[in-house]
Amino acid sequence: MALCPKSVLITGANRGIGLEFVKQFLKLDVPPKFIFACCRQPDSAEDLKSIASGSSVVHIVKLDVQDQSTIDTAKTYVESKLEGQGLNLLINNAAVLHLKGFYDVTKQEMMDHFETNAVGPLIVSQTFISLLKQAAGVNPTAPMSCSRAAIINMSTGVASISENSSGGIYPYRASKAALNMLTSNMAIDLKGDGILVTAVHPGWVKTNMGGPNALIDTETSLKGIMSVFAKLQGEEGTGKFYHGVKGELIGW
Ligand code: NDP
Repeated sequence: MALCPKSVLITGANRGIGLEFVKQFLKLDVPPKFIFACCRQPDSAEDLKSIASGSSVVHIVKLDVQDQSTIDTAKTYVESKLEGQGLNLLINNAAVLHLKGFYDVTKQEMMDHFETNAVGPLIVSQTFISLLKQAAGVNPTAPMSCSRAAIINMSTGVASISENSSGGIYPYRASKAALNMLTSNMAIDLKGDGILVTAVHPGWVKTNMGGPNALIDTETSLKGIMSVFAKLQGEEGTGKFYHGVKGELIGW
């Protein structure tokens, strides 16, 4: 199946993997009509601004996943643009990572990670759900897919409990494991509405978060992820935890 959502919203789109999502969606055979590239500080999002200046598709939208008022304002803006067609694809990409272990992690760091990496994606999904339902209703008999209506939560291999063999990275691992549970839960709760929900690990990618020693660049990661997106279909595709580059399932 070709990947052809008419509208996509990406959080944390000003750099790293989020920015590469914007570039790769623009390169699709049938690019979306709307790419809502969300970031905390649009004024200083220079890379995004240069992409948006030459495109009628890319809309830069202020959205801080820790700040409900920015999420609400973003939703109002997105809704005004979509003209009743709904939002096809929501990508919860924004996240933070501090390399803290058992002895040095603080309560505040744990709370901050949970707020950004788990609670944020839940609240963003909750706020935009009416637009996702609207999109699902445009093609009521089509199978669930990223082209019809879907929420993708950007997770990480180190959130896997079954594959954890090295310990450490407490706030990030725990908050992303919580995101995985939210993914599984939302997949069950939103199936009846025709909305697919799945978690995707992008590989170890050269970004601020992944660092310079990472294995792959953002383009390589995104090419894999986009082909996984294209394959996610119906009941088989929802409630899963995928390695975006290998295209294989990861154990929870
Ligand atoms: P980066 O650190 O390069 O980028 C993180 C993005 O999240 C930035 O745009 C940042 O915005 C944004 N962000 C952070 N906090 C908030 C917030 N409160 N509200 C809105 N945006 C926020 O990370 P990557 O691009 O590498 O990671 C993207 C996703 O992929 C993440 O979910 C990450 O966990 C996951 N991932 C990445 C891996 C890697 O190797 N890179 C490996 C496994 C998973 P700002 O510029 O304002 O700080």
